[in-house]
Amino acid sequence: MSTNESYKGYKGAALDTLKQFEALVWSDVVISTEKAEFTGIILPRSEAADPNHVVIKLRTGYNIGIEASKISNINIEGRKEAHYKIPEKAFPVDPKKPRVKLFGTGGTIASRLDYRTGAVIPAFSPGELYGSVPELADFCNLETEKLYGVFSENMGTEQWAGTANAIGAEIERGVKGIVIGHGTDTMHHTAAILSFMVQNSPVPIVMVGSQRSSDRPSSDAALNLMHSVKAAAESDIAEVTVCMFGPTSDSYGLLHQGTRVRKMHSSYRSTFRTIGDFPIAMVDRTKITPLRDDYRKRRTDKNVIINTAFEEKVAIVYYYPNMQPDIIDSLIDNGYKGIVIAGTGLGHVNKPLYPALKRAHEKGIHVYMTVQTLWGYVQMYVYDTGRDMMELGVIPSANMLPEVAYMKLCWALGQSNDPEIVRNIMLTPIANETTEREPSNGYLILQGGIPEVEEFISKYRK
Ligand code: ASP
Repeated sequence: MSTNESYKGYKGAALDTLKQFEALVWSDVVISTEKAEFTGIILPRSEAADPNHVVIKLRTGYNIGIEASKISNINIEGRKEAHYKIPEKAFPVDPKKPRVKLFGTGGTIASRLDYRTGAVIPAFSPGELYGSVPELADFCNLETEKLYGVFSENMGTEQWAGTANAIGAEIERGVKGIVIGHGTDTMHHTAAILSFMVQNSPVPIVMVGSQRSSDRPSSDAALNLMHSVKAAAESDIAEVTVCMFGPTSDSYGLLHQGTRVRKMHSSYRSTFRTIGDFPIAMVDRTKITPLRDDYRKRRTDKNVIINTAFEEKVAIVYYYPNMQPDIIDSLIDNGYKGIVIAGTGLGHVNKPLYPALKRAHEKGIHVYMTVQTLWGYVQMYVYDTGRDMMELGVIPSANMLPEVAYMKLCWALGQSNDPEIVRNIMLTPIANETTEREPSNGYLILQGGIPEVEEFISKYRK
């Protein structure tokens, strides 16, 4: 008998359509509209969802909504109720293994969908994680704590400071490594601010996420978790890093330095790239292979320094040709204290912006220049225009990535408003956010570049 429970969450036109064809939730169906046919499984709807769409999971793993009024037929081919409970198994404790703490902040890695409420439930207890990724027990004794449950666009001052303090407390308790589960979209922002808020860590602090959720066959969640937990438990890299897929295949993960990493692709699993340097290390399930040796090494003391200072009135301005000066004016008028410009080329903006920049400087606003090319340095001595801008008080920030400069300026202005002190904080590297030179082949090697391209070509070369 079909009760409304069998049409979980559907209402209005969508519910009427499902009832008309007796298509229950979890039915395997072919839905016809005037223009196309869609094959997949009818998913439950969240209670807050609109009444006009039927949502199915396509064979590819993607979910789509089909407007109920356009549906001309639903052919039912079968039905299999899905259970979203992850099998829980007690995480085995081995006194010889190091204690690793996994903090959850949210994002796809932490999510399985509660179809009733549409809420994302974190699958984060050690038992759940062990049930789905038993390999984690090979590396450590895992403890978990959910700090937040947000998609990463909702991370902000409270969450950054809270995470930094939680890391500090765990280091005090003698943890041997920390993993932070995080949405991928803004993971590089959080990695940057944690690199400033948490200094001199004696243990690895490894951020991890997943581009595809664990209900999809191509999910990167399990492997990323294994790599990051291994790096936290066993590596001697006591830095804030991001651990995600290296190449598009699943052959290894890369550990990227927290201030030199950026999400570069909206959907590839190999989305994170080190910019302006090499990644710190390659990680697979059996080994960690450092690619550099200039990282901070693991120690046995607990002398971490936590400084969660943060000024919120800071903005990034991504310059584009024909930008109008009122953009800068409105920041001045709204009480902004700092502006990071991502300029074109070596660090340029157009001349009409100069009077506004002058006014910003006179009002005591701290203005720093970065480059939107991401690779390479701001060079304001090359053209007269650069020199003009420096006279207006714009300070070049070497090869600091725009988002990193933004985070650092927020952190610096949280500590002082004195231009000299702020300048000194901004231009003194703390965690490799500025470097003396960038490797010329850095963006090709081990980043989906030469080895991967060679391997690809060799398959087709006769
Ligand atoms: N929108 C998600 C987030 O950043 C995507 C992800 O987790 O990959 O939280």
